[in-house]
Amino acid sequence: MQSSAGLVVVLGTGGTIAGTAPHPQDHTGYLAGALSAADLVAAVPALAGARLQTESVAQMDSCDMDHATWVRLALALEHHLARPDVAGVVVTHGTDTLEETAFFLHHTVWARKPVVLTAAMRPATAPSPDGPQNLVDAVLLAGGEGGAVGVVAVLAGAVHAGVDLRKLHGYRVDAFSSGDAGPLALVQDGVVRCLRPWPASAPAFAAALQTDPADWPAVDIVTSHAGARGATLDALVAAGTKGIVLAGTGNGSVHTSLLAAARRAQKQGVAVCRASRCIAGGVVGAPVGALPSAGDATPAQARVQLLLKLVCGA
Ligand code: ASP
Repeated sequence: MQSSAGLVVVLGTGGTIAGTAPHPQDHTGYLAGALSAADLVAAVPALAGARLQTESVAQMDSCDMDHATWVRLALALEHHLARPDVAGVVVTHGTDTLEETAFFLHHTVWARKPVVLTAAMRPATAPSPDGPQNLVDAVLLAGGEGGAVGVVAVLAGAVHAGVDLRKLHGYRVDAFSSGDAGPLALVQDGVVRCLRPWPASAPAFAAALQTDPADWPAVDIVTSHAGARGATLDALVAAGTKGIVLAGTGNGSVHTSLLAAARRAQKQGVAVCRASRCIAGGVVGAPVGALPSAGDATPAQARVQLLLKLVCGA
C-alpha cells in the first residue's frame, strides 16, 4: 500500500478478525480477540509500507461489549481525530455487536474525518480469512480514498453508513447490510465506487461522553411473540429498568399482554418504544395511541438510541 497517504490509526477492540483457532479449518471454535491491533496489522503483507499507528482499546469478543468500552473507544477516537497528522481512524471489532457500536459512535463522535469500522466472519487462522481484505479496504477509506467522512463500516467490499448497519447472517462472509438505505459505496480492487453521499456527522448525543457509563440507566429489549407474557416486562421494571424497546412483530405490533405491561411501565416513568423484529423495514407510520416508534432502527439500534436519550435527558 502507498506510503504517501495520510497517517491512519488502527484501534483494535477484538472480535473474530483478531481471533485464532487451534485448527485452521475451524471457522467457529476459536478465541475472539486473541491478537492485538499491532499483531493484526503486522499479519497483513498488503499493509506493509502504509503509514499506520496501532492501539488496542480492548481485546474482547464483541458479544460482551459494554458501555464503558464504548466510551473509552469514543474518547480514543476523538483524541486521534483531533490530531492534524491523522487522516482517519480504523476500528477493528467483532461482528456480533458491530451495528450497536457503529450506531453509538455515529451519535456521539464528531467524525469530520473517516471513522471506518471493520470486522471479519472468519478467524485470522482460517485458510481463507476475510479479515485481511476488510482491513486493507478500511485503511484505504480511512486514508481519505473516495472522500470518505463520518462513521462507516466496510465488510466484504461494501461500505455501510454506521447508522444503517445491521448484521443479517451468523456465518456467511457477506453478513452485513444497510437495510432499505443501501450501501454507501463499494471497494473494488482498491477503487472506491461511491453510490450515495457520505454521512454528515452531527452527533446529537455527544454529551453522553462527558458522563460516567456506570451511572447510565438500564435499558432492555423485550421481544413480542406468540404466547408473550406481560410478566417478563413487569419483572424488568421491578429490577429497575428505565427504558424498554419492544421488538414487535411485523410493523411493530405488540402482543396484548405485553402492551398492557408496557402501559403499566409508562405510568411508572419507564420510557417505552416499539421497533420491529423483522430483518428489514423497521416500523412505518404511527397510528393514534400507539407506543412511540423507533422508525428504521433495529431493536438493538433502538436500544442504543433510547439509552442515549435517557443519558442526555433528551
Ligand atoms: N463473537 C465474535 C465477536 O463478535 C464474532 C465475530 O467477530 O464475527 O467478537
